[in-house]
Amino acid sequence: MAKKRTLQSWSVEDSANLYGIREWGADYFDVAPNGDVTVRPIKNKRNINVSIPEIIEGMRERGLGMPVLLRIENILDSQISRLHEAFAKAIKTLGYRGSYRGVFPIKVNQQQQVVEKIAQYGARYHHGLEVGSKAELLAAISQLRDLEACLVCNGYKDEEFIDLGLHARRMGFKCFFVVEMPRELSLILERAKALGVKPLIGVRAKLASKAGGHWTESGGERSTFGLTAAQIIDVVDELRRHDMLDCFQLLHYHLGSQLSNIREIRAAALEASRVYAGLVQEGVTMGYLDLGGGLAVDYDGSRTNFLSSRNYSIDEYCMDVLEAVMSILDETNVPHPNIITESGRATVAYYSLLIFNILDVSRIEYGDEHDIYLDKEALSQEYEIIRNLYEVLTNITIRNLQECYNDAIYYRDEMRQHFLHGKVTLRQRTKAERLFWVIIKRIATERNKMPNPHKNLAEIDNALADIYYGNFSVFQSLPDSWAINQLFPIMPLHRLNEVPTRQAIISDITCDSDGRIDRFIAPHGMKNTLDLHDLKEGEEYYLGVFLVGAYQETLGDLHNLLGDTNVVSVRVDEDGGFEFVREIHGDSVSDILSYVEYDPRRIMEDLRALAEESVRAGRITPSDRYNILQAFEAGIRGYTYFER
Ligand SMILES: *Cc1c(COP(=O)(O)O)cnc(C)c1O
Repeated sequence: MAKKRTLQSWSVEDSANLYGIREWGADYFDVAPNGDVTVRPIKNKRNINVSIPEIIEGMRERGLGMPVLLRIENILDSQISRLHEAFAKAIKTLGYRGSYRGVFPIKVNQQQQVVEKIAQYGARYHHGLEVGSKAELLAAISQLRDLEACLVCNGYKDEEFIDLGLHARRMGFKCFFVVEMPRELSLILERAKALGVKPLIGVRAKLASKAGGHWTESGGERSTFGLTAAQIIDVVDELRRHDMLDCFQLLHYHLGSQLSNIREIRAAALEASRVYAGLVQEGVTMGYLDLGGGLAVDYDGSRTNFLSSRNYSIDEYCMDVLEAVMSILDETNVPHPNIITESGRATVAYYSLLIFNILDVSRIEYGDEHDIYLDKEALSQEYEIIRNLYEVLTNITIRNLQECYNDAIYYRDEMRQHFLHGKVTLRQRTKAERLFWVIIKRIATERNKMPNPHKNLAEIDNALADIYYGNFSVFQSLPDSWAINQLFPIMPLHRLNEVPTRQAIISDITCDSDGRIDRFIAPHGMKNTLDLHDLKEGEEYYLGVFLVGAYQETLGDLHNLLGDTNVVSVRVDEDGGFEFVREIHGDSVSDILSYVEYDPRRIMEDLRALAEESVRAGRITPSDRYNILQAFEAGIRGYTYFER
């Protein structure tokens, strides 16, 4: 017998299914019997689970305000291991005769702490770094200690960039220059000669293979960077002329990020292997094939080729690319190269989550149908548009929902117009709006009786949803959610043993109509509202946005002058305890003002003078002035977000 979902029978299992945490959580996140979200960050130690609300309690005790970006260090460690172990397994299974060298592209998360930890955890696998600018190169050199690891320089390079790389090479770093533009080669050769350093050179190939998705313009014939086959041959000839062909060791390509479809990944690996084999046939020794980034993250847990997912596992990725490379090289009798991948997103996405509290909820008060009941007599007295709306309400059936919906919107808008032109009173307009919401509510109820309700009139969910105001900024902390509608898993971090009774969208505190989240992951695609719990008096309600470690931190901007959030790094011990290993305080109001060219000291001076004038004019007393200035000073030192 089907189990009826009453308040009593709701379990944490139901919550786990509703939010899909076991689908997208990659085994790192789960729900505990007490309703808390837990993190299980240590590979092969499934019994070690730490409650995220307990970590939040630790933050509260330390006076760290919301929002907080929480980094779980062990997850980074585990992800690097997963990647390397997957390649090791594939190499063994297939009998591949090269080794694997991963590099982390710094642009995916340049924060010092992140790069430091990657260098530290990656050292046992010789995991290196990939850079695309001088600043990134300097950051990489300052963090990387392992000289066996690769340091790959992509991006457009000027003389200074090249000199920095050559100095790094002289100090023993395995620093590759990847030639992205034909002109770069002569500059590299010139500087190498001037400094007396033998460079390691690679080229970036423009492949014909192309992938779909948001981030894939870097691949394909029209990509901005990379050399065509003819230009690659020119590089060979030029290096041979300089008797430096042995410097040419690496072939690189980058198809794009978040490649959801394994077939596209495979096709590119096959094409690049042909180019690699061609170079060896040209007499170049080579040695490294760099497949770039693109290893995707399954943000929605669907395991499909949707943009927010991927139709392969990390193991399949490794097997497929190695198989593709072997199939071409074995056919042409070319030795297997060492494989480099530049996986950024998949390495760091899981390791950070954004936590914020809900400040307030707004809800549409639609009232009851009998509150607005009008008998014939009363109806005949009403304004025409109100009569029309009433008629829409009485005509709703399951077969004309769309039509009734359109009519309701039409009459509501018309009523607003009449109000603007002074034809109806404020009270009449209010009556029409109330009637409108009763109609919408009724349409929603009828629609939910349909076999496939979510496909029809989906915008109604949005219109009727509660708005939960979260203490964060979409622009600062989830820029890809705003800019390219990327989906991230979002869910309550506690109370998962209670049934969530509300349908909601989330608004941030920027007061910008774009500062909202109204698309959420769902088992089959996407939904417009999120299931949330009613707020409880005197109790915080915390939501988590997961998988935000990649690309979100430095793309964020200062919209409404809301700054960087507090960052807390936690390490979970083998005995199941956890420690706060680092906290970085977010921007203060003073920091933010100085980013936009104000001088906070000058602001205080001006305020002191202004307050003094008020004293002179007799508006405030000197001790009022003291208190007012204290408050201003505290405000300038304070956090930019809502403080309780
Ligand atoms: C951005 C970028 C990457 C990272 O790609 P992911 O999909 O995050 O792994 C790797 N290589 C290059 C050249 C890039 O520009």
